[in-house]
Amino acid sequence: KKILVTIDGPAGAGKTTVSRAVALELGYTYVDTGALYRGLAVIVNQKGVDPNDDEALAAVCKELELSLIPEEDKTRVIANGEDITDKLRTPEISMTASAVSARPLVREWLLGIQREFGEKGGAVFEGRDMGTVVFPNAEAKFFLHADPNIRARRRHQELLEKGLAVTEEDVAKDMEKRDKDDSSRAVAPLKPAEDAILVDSSQLNIEEAVWVILDWVK
Ligand code: C5P
Repeated sequence: KKILVTIDGPAGAGKTTVSRAVALELGYTYVDTGALYRGLAVIVNQKGVDPNDDEALAAVCKELELSLIPEEDKTRVIANGEDITDKLRTPEISMTASAVSARPLVREWLLGIQREFGEKGGAVFEGRDMGTVVFPNAEAKFFLHADPNIRARRRHQELLEKGLAVTEEDVAKDMEKRDKDDSSRAVAPLKPAEDAILVDSSQLNIEEAVWVILDWVK
């Protein structure tokens, strides 16, 4: 039987790499829900919309069609026909994504889109509220976390590999703010679902974390 697997957790815990590998192993579709928030953030920044202006935000959502195309090493995001994949993973977009994600109207809009993706089962959903809000009935829920210093170091490494000149200190600061905002927002705060299995990736490499998850799923 094809089930739904949800993997939530803070930034830099290894969710993306682990979720992708778990999906590949199970022959499931991988859905990066952060890419939806980031896609919206790119358009919001392009249009110069204030993330706190609900009216302007609603107008952007209404006109925006986002699609995700999972590829081997990244998720392509198409916004109204334009490929914006290369714009998604900058520190600026991370912060705007976090800001728009705190708006209830944005979460409501993306809720429908995400549930549509999950209708057929056989998918691994990665995000912040997959197990708590979007798919409360998912069969296998995981919360992947790690020590904040380790997460900052990993994210810093990722950005360096992309050629972005940032210091580890700045990455740590941004991450701390984003985690705090994500965990303290009124709607769908970042937290493990009651029935989620907690996986601490601080001392695990990718293969080990994938193995732990697959073992539970099976
Ligand atoms: O996972 P990623 O870092 O790409 O997500 C970017 C931001 O989008 C997160 O910091 C969070 O604010 C928001 N997000 C969310 N709910 C999700 C996925 C992402 O609020 N399911």
